[in-house]
Amino acid sequence: MPGFELFGDAERKEVQDVLASGVLMRYGFEGMRNGHWKANDLELAIQNRFRVKHAQLVSNGTAAVSMTLAVAGVGAGDEVIMPSFTFVASFEAIMMMGATPVVVDIDDTLTLDIEGVKAAITSKTKAIMPVHMCGSMANLDALKSICDQHNLILIEDACQAIGGSYKGKALGTFGDLGCFSFDFVKTVTCGEGGGIITNNATYAKRLDHFSDHGHDHIGKDRGAEDHPFLGYNFRISELNAAVGLAQFKRIDEFLALQKRNYTILRTALSGIDGVQFRTVPNGGVESYAFLSFFLDDLSTARAVSKSFKANGIDVCFHYYDNNWHYIRKWDHLKTQNSLYPLSKELREGLSYLKTKDFSKSDHYIGRNISCLIKISWTEEEVLKRAETMAQCIKSCN
Ligand SMILES: *Cc1c(COP(=O)(O)O)cnc(C)c1O
Repeated sequence: MPGFELFGDAERKEVQDVLASGVLMRYGFEGMRNGHWKANDLELAIQNRFRVKHAQLVSNGTAAVSMTLAVAGVGAGDEVIMPSFTFVASFEAIMMMGATPVVVDIDDTLTLDIEGVKAAITSKTKAIMPVHMCGSMANLDALKSICDQHNLILIEDACQAIGGSYKGKALGTFGDLGCFSFDFVKTVTCGEGGGIITNNATYAKRLDHFSDHGHDHIGKDRGAEDHPFLGYNFRISELNAAVGLAQFKRIDEFLALQKRNYTILRTALSGIDGVQFRTVPNGGVESYAFLSFFLDDLSTARAVSKSFKANGIDVCFHYYDNNWHYIRKWDHLKTQNSLYPLSKELREGLSYLKTKDFSKSDHYIGRNISCLIKISWTEEEVLKRAETMAQCIKSCN
């Protein structure tokens, strides 16, 4: 997945354009910038690649998720449904806007369980946020119809799945709003950066203003701009956008390498007793950022994970025992260990976490191993790795 593996001359050239003029900011300074608008160019490239009307770059993926809620009018007292298996950024982004994260079980897709979502809807629910973890998606048709039925917003966190698709649409373009991360370890990197895509012109305008202190971006004198509503600063710098622009131009090359390496590993593990690949919903195409599979039970998964490590197979994750991506280890959330006072609505809204049962998620995450697919591996290296992985799994059966 990490685009940084193939950082090179193209990235250096784009950054050099920015350094040569010294305009490190994406807005203004027209006379000085030698015609370079890297953030604008990257937004256009994203719109074209994903056939979507609007793209907004921001400082990081977590900010991108927060902003989708802000522009859709989701905040204090509102509930947002999110999965039990995701990066901690999901609940951070929801809580930043004052809303309450409602954590719901996952199923064998490793994303939101549809029945769990239905059961979690209350009069306070405003949005459903599937997270396309490890390169693959939830059943988006089912989520869309739940959203339509209850008048909810569908927000796709596609931070780990750029390049995947569902029923012919790029991941991130199916919902009302979609998010990408361009942090250092994502398929396309800006160093730090995030993006939001949408076909909704009202959201797009709000994203543009909100990410830059609410400035309305009318006219060429920043000091004279008006503020139709409150905003924050979630701007991306021109330097980060320059790196991302070079990387994004290579997205098809990166995705082809991911797919090749994924396919070699998958072929080697297919047919091994006790290995079952994650379910990809009908009509879904993975981004191939990870190869995810289930083993028979928790102890087998732990044994395989240990065997991988002992045999030099890195970047394979048993998320059940991982502190970042799974509800089991989010004690700081469960105990509401905040540096600053949380609102009464949020404190009360989170209290369900003290008792909620996630055994359904445990059943899947406990048996799951997800292996990151690197794009710098040579074909020989992947073949060798595939053979070692197959041996490790067989030795644990
Ligand atoms: C990386 C990631 C984010 C956050 O992105 P940052 O750019 O690191 O803030 C959000 N959601 C998921 C699923 C991610 O993997």
